Amino acid sequence: MKLPICPKCNRQFTWREVNKDTSFLLWRPKLECRNCEGVFKLTIRSYVLASVVRILPVLVLAVLMNYEQLSKFPALLIFLLLLGFIIYMEPYLAKIKT
Ligand SMILES: [Zn+2]
Repeated sequence: MKLPICPKCNRQFTWREVNKDTSFLLWRPKLECRNCEGVFKLTIRSYVLASVVRILPVLVLAVLMNYEQLSKFPALLIFLLLLGFIIYMEPYLAKIKT
């Protein structure tokens, strides 16, 4: 697992850059290299993956909330942990179209 590398200048994007550039997933995000100012589209596959992965915690929360044996607090805790994990993981899923 590693962060994407700029195809133009071979510089590795930082977690923060990828996180910032992919924060809005309504359109296919573009990564902007801070070194050579190149702009690169994500692959369709990594875009779809990032979108699916973002819906996941919400689905898990919905399932857990319907689980009678489980009280609301652990359900919320699992949701927040999963959300944090996904936010952390997401930049590693980004792949640049070359
Ligand atoms: Zn670059």
